[in-house]
Amino acid sequence: MAPTLPAAVGFLAGIHQDGGRPPQPVLATASSRAPWTQHTAGQSLHAVLLHSGAPDGAHAHARDTTLLLAGELYNREQLLPLLPGRTPPGSDAALVLALFGTYDVHAFRLLNGRFAALLAAPGRAVLATDHAGSLPLYVSATPGRVLAATEAKALRAAPPGQPLPGRPVRRLAGVRQVPAGTVLDLGVATGRCTSHRTWAPPLARRVLPEEDAVEAVRRALDDAVRARVGPDVPLVVLSGGIDSSSVAALAAARCRPAPVDTVSMGTDEADEFPQARVVARHLGSAHREVTVPTDELLRRLPHTVWAAECTDPDIVEYLLPLTALYLRLGGPARRILTGYGADIPLGGMHREDRLPALDTAVCHDMDTYDGLNELTPVLSGAAGHWSTHPYWDRDVLDVLVSLEAGLKRRHGRDKWVLRAALRDVLPHETVVRPKLGVHEGSGTTASFTRLLTDAGVPAGRVRHAKRLVVQELFDRVVVEGRHPGDVATGAVVEHVAAGLVPR
Ligand code: ATP
Ligand code: MG
Ligand code: MG
Ligand code: MG
Repeated sequence: MAPTLPAAVGFLAGIHQDGGRPPQPVLATASSRAPWTQHTAGQSLHAVLLHSGAPDGAHAHARDTTLLLAGELYNREQLLPLLPGRTPPGSDAALVLALFGTYDVHAFRLLNGRFAALLAAPGRAVLATDHAGSLPLYVSATPGRVLAATEAKALRAAPPGQPLPGRPVRRLAGVRQVPAGTVLDLGVATGRCTSHRTWAPPLARRVLPEEDAVEAVRRALDDAVRARVGPDVPLVVLSGGIDSSSVAALAAARCRPAPVDTVSMGTDEADEFPQARVVARHLGSAHREVTVPTDELLRRLPHTVWAAECTDPDIVEYLLPLTALYLRLGGPARRILTGYGADIPLGGMHREDRLPALDTAVCHDMDTYDGLNELTPVLSGAAGHWSTHPYWDRDVLDVLVSLEAGLKRRHGRDKWVLRAALRDVLPHETVVRPKLGVHEGSGTTASFTRLLTDAGVPAGRVRHAKRLVVQELFDRVVVEGRHPGDVATGAVVEHVAAGLVPR
């Protein structure tokens, strides 16, 4: 079973052959920090582990090799038989290190998890992300030195170094983001790098009878929820939409007779409270409603960009209400399950009947998710909580993406296969409820738009202005490393509005 929080939720680490040290840990994640150092022949490893009380479970050692792991694995039971005759590793880090001893970089092809890893061996640094890159990982390398961190801002002072195969980060010339489902194998002395892809979204589509498809989705999602529920009662962020209601129903079944906890957010302008209440009542969850005033919501824009390190204004709009909710939760660290991301493999945002257009949307979204950081745990991590998303479990994703489009849109309904898979555990009105995005149900899109038009941005330029606001926020809280509490949304909006060239 998963503990309440993983041993580490992030790290900053440096491998140096020249006696240097990594920069100060400027990070949004709010956990405790354990400094940790190791010297081996000709090389030192300095790390700061972001942890929740048990940082020792986040590193493992065998001979001259050390592994740091932030996050967790979801397929431990599958992996353990690969190491016959050994004492079962006591932590996910030890398990990954043991697998590395057998499979080298190909060990990462075996893992279903939410993690970022750094492995240090003499002269060698190996960096790995999970299949979805759901725990972002950044790297900077110069000959004799490799820096790695789970937040880009921690590496913002790194000088331009070796060209690496990762994804560039806005205005941080010395930093690259390790792509999703990728292992980078670096020579520390040279900075030379080999890249291995460990997962790619399926391109083929499977044709299945309705009942087989429904059964496959139910089983995969149930397994993913089970792997994510720890010894303590989980908290499900619940909108009353089909995605989060399905997760809540499966989590509730896992926890019975204990009630699961659910929470819904709304603003003074809009909420989905009645729809979420229907589900909470049906499942008997201990339910809470959190109303965030719209001015507080908009004040959380800098925090959202700080945590997600994202420059896409649409994504920031989806993540803003959740960030505001996480910052309002209070209390001890929680394990949070969400229904986030179901719409990507299922084409849920696609509100019409044509199947070619639906599969085009799925292909496009599966080609472009990398680097958006939509699934990052730092959003909840900035409030001290750990979040995990069952729909982006590797096995769930493989099933959902590969279903032929006619199973996703069927009988005039979006996400048909998911609705059919959960119809026996949810109220009928929830099963047939049309999709409503979190940015719509909370009034976030509308209030962000109004903030801009009130500042004088013409209606036709709102989209462009939102992009500029998000970029400007990114420059302040990531590139300059400022705290979001010191960055006023209103001032940034005025700055952007004043700089817009009239057309
Ligand atoms: P649907 O996509 O069909 O509307 P959904 O509401 O569960 O289902 P999204 O709207 O895509 O999914 O939202 C993504 C996730 O964010 C949800 O699954 C849920 O976990 C969380 N979420 C969305 N809105 C709220 C809300 N008002 N309160 C709490 N959590 C929410
Ligand atoms: Mg959804
Ligand atoms: Mg969604
Ligand atoms: Mg919704």
